Amino acid sequence: MIREPDELRRLCDEHRRAGRRIGFVPTMGYLHEGHLSLMRRAREAAEVVVVSIFVNPTQFGPSEDLSRYPRDLEGDLAKCASIPVDLVYAPEPASVYPPGFQTVVEVEGLSRGLCGERRPGHFRGVATVVTKLLCLVGPCTAVFGEKDFQQLLVIRQLARDLELPVTVVGAPIVREPDGLALSSRNAYLSPAERASAPCLHRALEEVARAAAAAGRLPASAALAAVERELAGQGVATRIDYVEARDARTLAPRAELLPDGQTLVALAVFFGKTRLIDNLVF
Ligand code: AMP
Repeated sequence: MIREPDELRRLCDEHRRAGRRIGFVPTMGYLHEGHLSLMRRAREAAEVVVVSIFVNPTQFGPSEDLSRYPRDLEGDLAKCASIPVDLVYAPEPASVYPPGFQTVVEVEGLSRGLCGERRPGHFRGVATVVTKLLCLVGPCTAVFGEKDFQQLLVIRQLARDLELPVTVVGAPIVREPDGLALSSRNAYLSPAERASAPCLHRALEEVARAAAAAGRLPASAALAAVERELAGQGVATRIDYVEARDARTLAPRAELLPDGQTLVALAVFFGKTRLIDNLVF
């Protein structure tokens, strides 16, 4: 495991000089099968797989869960070894943001709306740390999950805009057998909340089916489907947003069309835990 940026750069430089392609997967750790699927995807694309494990403080708001975000570095290293991952970079915040650090990366359009609106500064923190990591690692391929769909588009855009020599690959959402999208934050859920949380995916599937059957539906049908599923769950829930967007541009959609480019994205609180999910249909 590597703690310091200089050492990571030196090792990655060596691999590139030897003509080996690097595949990169940035994470915040507390790894699950969703993360591992990205690592396997990186393995397909490259001879060397690099994973970062860093709970990035700058992408958390002041009232968010930075201090209690789940961590298990030892377990994470064992999971990385099972892939296998070649280099794990797990820096301390002080190595990533030394005194005097003052540069940010902001992807203006795509960071607005959805999670960007509800978590001010979140995508600036993400874009900045991912840009730093891409510069340090120099991967041919970097893999991101469609679970964080807006984040994936933000990263694609910054790689394009900054002409970073990397292919950004999106990987499908890995779900539990009951449909709940895997997330490190699922560890926060009480048993009752955990039992109820698959209703998010059910609502997304329902609305996709209804749109396919009807040919088109007003965008409000998505919110209505989520409200229907949440009603009677018997746990405290609060909808943060349910929105229909174009899956390429994130432009708002007034209608749900089964055209392969309709994104329905949502964020819902189960108790204090904010879960996100989405479906493109
Ligand atoms: P995180 O550790 O939550 O920052 O996630 C690191 C990467 O794993 C991001 O690209 C996420 O989109 C991706 N990821 C998280 N959960 C899943 C999942 N259930 N399926 C696929 N990718 C995921």
